[in-house]
Amino acid sequence: MRVGSGVALCLLAFAPMPLVSGYHRPVSIEEALELLRSPRRVALGGGTTLNADRDPSDLEAVDLQALGLDKITTGEASGRVRVGATATLEAVWRSELLPDSLRELARAEQPSTLRTLATVGGLIAKGSPESLLLAGLLAHDAEVELIAADDDSTSRRSLSGLLRSGLSPGALIIAVSVATTGRTAMASTARTPADIPIVAAYGRSSEAGVSLALTGVADHPVLVDPSHPTAGLAPTGDFRGSRDYRLHLAATLTARVNEELI
Ligand SMILES: Cc1cc2nc3c(=O)[nH]c(=O)nc-3n(C[C@H](O)[C@H](O)[C@H](O)COP(=O)(O)OP(=O)(O)OC[C@H]3O[C@@H](n4cnc5c(N)ncnc54)[C@H](O)[C@@H]3O)c2cc1C
Repeated sequence: MRVGSGVALCLLAFAPMPLVSGYHRPVSIEEALELLRSPRRVALGGGTTLNADRDPSDLEAVDLQALGLDKITTGEASGRVRVGATATLEAVWRSELLPDSLRELARAEQPSTLRTLATVGGLIAKGSPESLLLAGLLAHDAEVELIAADDDSTSRRSLSGLLRSGLSPGALIIAVSVATTGRTAMASTARTPADIPIVAAYGRSSEAGVSLALTGVADHPVLVDPSHPTAGLAPTGDFRGSRDYRLHLAATLTARVNEELI
């Protein structure tokens, strides 16, 4: 178990019952990929999910914070911005390169104590069904840069496809690029104004048409057809909203967003 490029550290000695039992802090992407080839090792972003569990495990964390993947820069293509995988949600909120509507979703995602820790890479890997920022990234035509740990091959995948298929074991998210152009609108329903929405709709109108993403209607945020938003959806109901209520919200909120974007 290593810190930096060589020193060993066992976290069990420092914290009671952590989820991870080992910690590595690679200083290059190559070193990180080599570490992630072991199925016992997992990438560590901000640790808001990964290390939040109190049950012990034999997993070892590969901390990505020394890899320099936290930059938010204008993308190679015009009208796009590249957000590094270890950029925090707080950094997304503060970046003036990103559209205000997207920044606002980062701010709304979590309380500031978590926002300063949670990373964009962790957000994507986790694929939380209620993530407003993920819905925003989807509508902004997000493309994810990945490196596979088994053969070091790099690839670009649409966020939509990646959320559908899930991340391959050991794959490292390097960055996500988003389109910054277009007009946006959002509508959501929550039990109280401060609650995470039961269902939210976020749309972006551009030359290519309207891209519309929903939260709360599948096991991850999804892009839907703005004219037939409930087609193919089969949400799971819970105490906050039944399947039918969620479908009703999906149709109603999409109509509101469409109306605003017209
Ligand atoms: C109190 C609380 C409230 C929360 N509220 C929300 C919320 O409102 N919305 C929401 O979406 N989530 C929420 N979460 C979940 C979590 O905070 C987010 O999903 C967060 O963005 C995860 O980011 P992280 O950097 O902390 O990931 P980590 O906890 O470090 O990792 C999460 C997963 O992502 C993987 N991972 C991290 N980075 C990479 C990478 N670059 N490449 C490949 N895999 C990677 C890890 O291996 C792990 O499987 C909440 C969590 C807590 C504890």
